[in-house]
Amino acid sequence: MTTVSELLSRGVTELSGISSTARLDAEVLLRHVLSLNNLDLVLRRNNQITDEKRDSFLSLLDRRKFLEPIAYLVGKKEFFGREFKVTPATLIPRPETEHLVEDVLKNIRNIKKESLRILDLGTGSGAILITLIAELKNSGANVTGVGVDLSGEALVVAAENARNLGVESSIDFRLGSWWQPLKQDEKFSIIITNPPYISIHDKNTSPEIKFEPPTALFSGDDGLADYRIILSGVSRFIESPGVFLGEFGSAQGADILKLAKSSIPDAQVDIRRDLAGLDRYIFCLT
Ligand code: GLN
Repeated sequence: MTTVSELLSRGVTELSGISSTARLDAEVLLRHVLSLNNLDLVLRRNNQITDEKRDSFLSLLDRRKFLEPIAYLVGKKEFFGREFKVTPATLIPRPETEHLVEDVLKNIRNIKKESLRILDLGTGSGAILITLIAELKNSGANVTGVGVDLSGEALVVAAENARNLGVESSIDFRLGSWWQPLKQDEKFSIIITNPPYISIHDKNTSPEIKFEPPTALFSGDDGLADYRIILSGVSRFIESPGVFLGEFGSAQGADILKLAKSSIPDAQVDIRRDLAGLDRYIFCLT
């Protein structure tokens, strides 16, 4: 038998020098295995742990030593204040992506209509779409959405998240590539996307992304192969007034701006930054 604090120290020691967040990692994994909150982990530091729980913790620790993301180890990630299930079939939602959601909510009066339709291209875990629908419903809007993804496995996770967060009846998830699952005459007031945008030559940017689905990360030689397809369809499927928002990599601002100006000529186009001051997403008002 071992205690909570002994196991925690062992975790920190084993991860030190491997993970830059060794203490936090060990705490999160131990809390997950023991179903404890932050405070309980401290209050129960002298409690005994069963061999079974100890083994579960040690096996997660072993996976973390290979830098498998914490979100996959615990099977969830918080986004915009809600908890989303994630699996290796889905990209892990990033805090930078919350800027896009915030911006839509801030601009909603510019596109306000009786009913709003949102399209999320490459929905993954559904984090963006589900958050928008939940937030807009909370503020009384009549809103529905379509979430498209090439991965059936990701859509199963997204549907589960929609169910857990109470918005399943407002969302239609569709399997396919970008615009392909849409009907000819469908129109949306909000189109949003966090597509793959990393160059295939930058596969080694961070060890953790090796665990994420490559199809959600990499997009041709310059990282813009999918963006070319996405931007070429916006005009056809967006209403006016409407907004299109897309996340991209910090060095792609100029290229994305050029592509957007030629493919959505009538829109007001703006490149916006994240909290780190880096170019992060495109905002187009049609
Ligand atoms: N922002 C992610 C990263 O840099 C990439 C996400 C994406 O390609 N959409 O790891």
